[in-house]
Amino acid sequence: MRYLSTRGHAGRMRFCEILLEGLAPDGGLYLPEHYPQVDGATLTKWRGLSYAELAFEVLSLYIDDIPPADLKAICAKTYTEQVFGTPEIVPLRPLEEGLYLEALSNGPTLAFKDMAMQLLGNLFEYELGRRFESLNILGATSGDTGSAAEYAMRGKKGVRVFMTSPNGRMSPFQQAQMFSLQDENIHNLAVEGVFDDCQDIVKAVSNDLEFKRQYKIGTVNSINWARLLAQVVYYFAGYFEATSNNAQKVSFAVPSGNFGNVCAGHVARSMGLPIDKLVVATNENDVLDEFFRTGVYRVRGSTDTFETSSPSMDISKASNFERFVFDLLGRDGNKIKALFHDQLASQGSFDLSRDPAFKLAAQRYCFVSGKSIHADRLATIRNVWERFGILIDTHTADGVKVAREHRQPGVPMIVLETALPIKFAETIEEALGMTPPRPSRFDGIEALPRRVKVLPADVAAIKRYIAENVH
Ligand SMILES: *Cc1c(COP(=O)(O)O)cnc(C)c1O
Repeated sequence: MRYLSTRGHAGRMRFCEILLEGLAPDGGLYLPEHYPQVDGATLTKWRGLSYAELAFEVLSLYIDDIPPADLKAICAKTYTEQVFGTPEIVPLRPLEEGLYLEALSNGPTLAFKDMAMQLLGNLFEYELGRRFESLNILGATSGDTGSAAEYAMRGKKGVRVFMTSPNGRMSPFQQAQMFSLQDENIHNLAVEGVFDDCQDIVKAVSNDLEFKRQYKIGTVNSINWARLLAQVVYYFAGYFEATSNNAQKVSFAVPSGNFGNVCAGHVARSMGLPIDKLVVATNENDVLDEFFRTGVYRVRGSTDTFETSSPSMDISKASNFERFVFDLLGRDGNKIKALFHDQLASQGSFDLSRDPAFKLAAQRYCFVSGKSIHADRLATIRNVWERFGILIDTHTADGVKVAREHRQPGVPMIVLETALPIKFAETIEEALGMTPPRPSRFDGIEALPRRVKVLPADVAAIKRYIAENVH
């Protein structure tokens, strides 16, 4: 399997070459040259597999530069009951007839990002060990991504994490989750500023190619292909749990921000998994819903990017969206470059409403979308609690709300549960007047000693800190 860039660069790369990289050299995103097809006989064979075995089968179709026995061992050590809480790893729970929740949030940080990040940690350690190299991951987080990355990389050989976050602006639970880590290879940098300052610093450091090379700076952001690939697996797992034979179809509803999660659904469907609809659920930041309704993709400025009660979906642009548009427009790298490089930079938007390909988004790729706002979230959290005794988080509530608008008779609808309610306790209290339960391993984490360095929002200060802590 070779990988290509969405912007037409001629290079063709292998999996382990792109594993440790971010963007392609032309600024595009990596995708496989083709999607391997999974036929009915293979689906039948895969039905009986454990999650780790299923992950190995799916990953094997895309990774041919890690010996199978090694890849199998990596999957087996990643997807364990000990790390994810159940032997099924991603069990389904029924709500009303034909509507299910797929639990993706029982990993170490209680959000679905663990599903991919835990694998990434093991892949990084393996590949760096094989090359006798090390990597210093620099990131910016306002919550879920940073903690998932730290819990995946803690104690891993060859990897250090430098995670910037806006000082005092994450929820107390999230701060405690990250700052209580005592591992020597994890560095929490609380920046005196807002999330955008953190992101700007990361960008500035990464653009200093000299520094980047000298200090082996890398990232783990959501455009990493390996993360997306890891997410493909749970679409297969959810399908097998909801059906008894391959003639059946299911739909998935996905609380979306950067379009990474639902893009994995698009990949699974492109491989032949019988998915009927892919339902994109957004919050007030409805960049994606607007596109699927109108054909206009309009990046938001900071003044019209809203802070909501489903904060992990508060995006101004959807960084993985380019991958889907590449497929939608017949994999024409020049067109993608014109849209995402030229037109977005000059106009901040592009309009495909008059392009004949736009109707394929619904017809061939079966995307539909919807939007959920704070009042919907509260109502959905209450409704699901009162009817089923199940507590859902704010992001999952957006998914349930939009899923219900797209139900079709006879087609099971699976909502991906992207976080546990304890991470967003304030809104649960607003909806239900009660505090969500906390898994016992997090009891008292707010009182644990903290390992965090407060630094000014200054590129030079961050660089100095990295230089002093890389040896
Ligand atoms: C990251 C995240 C999302 C959005 O996922 P994308 O892959 O960016 O679309 C939704 N919900 C939660 C809880 C998240 O952490």
